[in-house]
Amino acid sequence: MSRHVHTKETRPVSKPAQTLEFQAETRQLLQLVIHSIYSNKDIFLRELISNASDALDKLRLESLTDADLEVDTSDLHITLEVDGDARTLTVRDNGIGMTRDDVVDLIGTIAKSGTASLLQKIKETKDAGAAQSLIGQFGVGFYSAFMVADKVTLHTRRAGTEQGTVWESDGEGTYTIAEADDLPVGTSVTLHLKPADGEDGVGDYLAAWKVRQIVKQYSDFIRWPIRMAATTVGADAEPGAADGASGEPQTLNSMKALWARPRSEVTEAEYSEFYQQISHDWQAPAETIHMRAEGTFEYEALLFIPAHAPFDLFSRDAKRGVQLYVKRVFIMDDCDALMPNYLRFVKGVVDAHDLSLNVSREILQHDRQITAVRRRLVKKVLAALKDMQTKNGETYAKVWEQFGRVLKEGLFEDRDNTDALLGLVSVASTNDAEKPTTLHEYVARMKDGQDTIYYLTGENRQMVENSPHMEAFTAKGYEVLILTDPVDEVWTDQVPAFDGHRFQSIAKGQVDLDDDADGEGADGTEKAQREQDFADLIAWLQTSLAAHVKQVRLSSRLTTSAACLVGDAQDLTPTLEKMYRAMGQELPAVKRILELNPTHPLIIALRRAHGANADDPALAELAELVHGSALIAEGGDLPDPARFTRLLTDRLTHAL
Ligand code: ADP
Ligand code: MG
Repeated sequence: MSRHVHTKETRPVSKPAQTLEFQAETRQLLQLVIHSIYSNKDIFLRELISNASDALDKLRLESLTDADLEVDTSDLHITLEVDGDARTLTVRDNGIGMTRDDVVDLIGTIAKSGTASLLQKIKETKDAGAAQSLIGQFGVGFYSAFMVADKVTLHTRRAGTEQGTVWESDGEGTYTIAEADDLPVGTSVTLHLKPADGEDGVGDYLAAWKVRQIVKQYSDFIRWPIRMAATTVGADAEPGAADGASGEPQTLNSMKALWARPRSEVTEAEYSEFYQQISHDWQAPAETIHMRAEGTFEYEALLFIPAHAPFDLFSRDAKRGVQLYVKRVFIMDDCDALMPNYLRFVKGVVDAHDLSLNVSREILQHDRQITAVRRRLVKKVLAALKDMQTKNGETYAKVWEQFGRVLKEGLFEDRDNTDALLGLVSVASTNDAEKPTTLHEYVARMKDGQDTIYYLTGENRQMVENSPHMEAFTAKGYEVLILTDPVDEVWTDQVPAFDGHRFQSIAKGQVDLDDDADGEGADGTEKAQREQDFADLIAWLQTSLAAHVKQVRLSSRLTTSAACLVGDAQDLTPTLEKMYRAMGQELPAVKRILELNPTHPLIIALRRAHGANADDPALAELAELVHGSALIAEGGDLPDPARFTRLLTDRLTHAL
């Protein structure tokens, strides 16, 4: 590797300290790091601890593979030291360490390919947000120390070598490098913290409680102990912190990254405790999914399906429950790139091994590998639900009751998994007053010659069951799904079929159940005759009710009601129309179709009255009443309730 290094001697020969220049790109990156690309300065500690943890991993591995390496690996750990008087914070590890050349190569340069072009792009964009997301593609790791320190001193000795190295820099353009004797194996990084500045909050890093808090948040599951050395008295200033610095070093992190352990070694109780910790739930989860992916993109995932829904499941800013870790370092909560919105109730952790610690949400959204991980996780969760449905129906019923409404959002959000989601659907049906049905079960019960899945949406079961639309279906023994969640209006509109069977709202389009085997109902000629008999009445009603309905026709779906309203197949249902309006959408009024029951005494009488005197003013009022009643029967809103009541009262008075 060749690089330009300008050296000049700054000290006598016995311990030569050299001043070297940072590689040009490193210098530029440093400037970016120091000058506020990160709003959250706390992350410097996570970066240094992650480096220390890597160094411990490397040493352990090397001690296992290299029999000649004489090192003590019995107490690998990370130590944090705060010195209030010197205003320093030191992160120390007894890991692999670095040689002098390592330090120049690894700390003095940014060896990663593409850095130059990245910096070019950053310079070209004027948008700070875009710059930040670009920088997130690269780990700026070690350099993040300069966000909080105006000088950084690094002491290090490579395992298996004798000579130690000291590196020091103020992060401006140069660094010094010198030899040091008598260093222990490993690395210590000492940050000379910037002057305490209220605005910056930098002074905080001298407070032991603050350091502890950052470790807890970002590095709790690091597999090596992170110890807080007995600190300078006075540094621990958190009010009410009982566990202040005393003589003994304290271990700050729990180290219990369950997801990194083989499934066989974790007990149910441990899973449950972990779940409760990350979810703030007090109950055990309904299901635990623990997986590990090896290959080009390694990750571990530990996901939970809760047994009950949080109170904010439907609030606009409900968070997704999956946290992202990179090699046990906490990166972010609510990682939306890993879980689709309709699985927002799934809690857990994904630990990806090959991501930069600085990865941003924007980058994750567009990362091909993350997209692939997400796809795999979704499949896993859906498969776990399917499994629960087949093997543990009772638990499944509870989970569906809690999350079914959210899962159904997936039917229109996630086209890739429509079939899997349809397989999970469990809905009320006219088949059984208590027990919901799956679509498979529905299809298995379909009548001979029936090829569509009938459903009706509405506000509640009772209203749906008593709806006039239901009459012919009940009379002829067709099963109808009773869909009462608002989301049902949406997915039934968008999912074309299940298992080759179309979904058909019984409140939409023409219904023709007459071709069934029991021989009831009108045959062709009878029907034609009826059409003719009612032609005049229908023509007149169409004009008289033109403001309210787009068509009037005879119905074959009614047995006991006089009339009902239906939509065309592509029309919005009244509930959907209401929902869109509630969301502030402007819509033209959706006019519906009035269907009349030609066998009903009221309709028969109406025809007779119209035949006798088509100009009778009472007829128009009757027409309004018929339309209004049909509207009320399906739970709709009358255009003018006061007028309707007056007309009805008049009629009742006449009748008595
Ligand atoms: P990254 O961790 O993404 O490689 P960093 O800037 O954090 O980037 O670190 C650069 C390199 O410096 C590391 O890859 C590692 O080789 C070396 N390094 C940093 N800290 C230590 C340490 N505590 N012990 C040994 N090597 C270290
Ligand atoms: Mg690093």
